[in-house]
Amino acid sequence: MKLDILAFGAHPDDVELGCGATIAKEISLGKKVGIVDLTRGELGTRGSADIRDEEAAAAAKILGVQIRENLRFRDGFFVNDEKHQLEIIRMIRKYQPEIVLCNAVEDRHIDHGKGSKLVSDACFLSGLRRIETVDNGEQQEAWRPKLVYHYIQWKNSEPDFVVDVTGFTDKKVEAVMAYSSQFYEPNSNEPITPIATKNFLDSLVYRSQDLGRLIGTDFGEGFTVERYLAVNSLGDLR
Ligand SMILES: [Zn+2]
Repeated sequence: MKLDILAFGAHPDDVELGCGATIAKEISLGKKVGIVDLTRGELGTRGSADIRDEEAAAAAKILGVQIRENLRFRDGFFVNDEKHQLEIIRMIRKYQPEIVLCNAVEDRHIDHGKGSKLVSDACFLSGLRRIETVDNGEQQEAWRPKLVYHYIQWKNSEPDFVVDVTGFTDKKVEAVMAYSSQFYEPNSNEPITPIATKNFLDSLVYRSQDLGRLIGTDFGEGFTVERYLAVNSLGDLR
């Protein structure tokens, strides 16, 4: 199945937190979107890998993505090497996305920056036809996504552009809250983590409002790019 957008996250919930509203908006515009999680988040303080599998499936349904896969890399310890790159390349060639979304270049969790570079490197390598990969017993064609964008997650990285996601923040929050083991739940007996606080939950909305304010709208999600953004005319920007 060919997709328009493929979003990668080091952990299940990274994609929802970083660009859930953008994905919901693109889907509402008729785009086909998929999610690939690199790990099952098995080192997470709260919940378990099995619980997070179920939560990820529920969140995918809320967002309306076409597919969600998990590469089962080792949470905390996966590396950017040939073996891992080939697994990412297999996903890129399988779904042939025009646009790839991936983790922030630098963030609090070490897997985010690592996953970001791993996916970005694999996007380049995927376009080289002499790198051979097989999926379901079939040789895959080379494919390089046109665009790679990094979503912003924990740290307030400075965005290179901001997507107006007004009207889609509720859906993002709903998808995030599908991970009920991870986020704010006043009745939970699990240890409090930085992402399980009320402030973190509220931050999904207030940070989005702040980015929206800066582009003259109600809500926004920011992204960074690795190369210059190209426009056909000055009127392409608003
Ligand atoms: Zn994460």
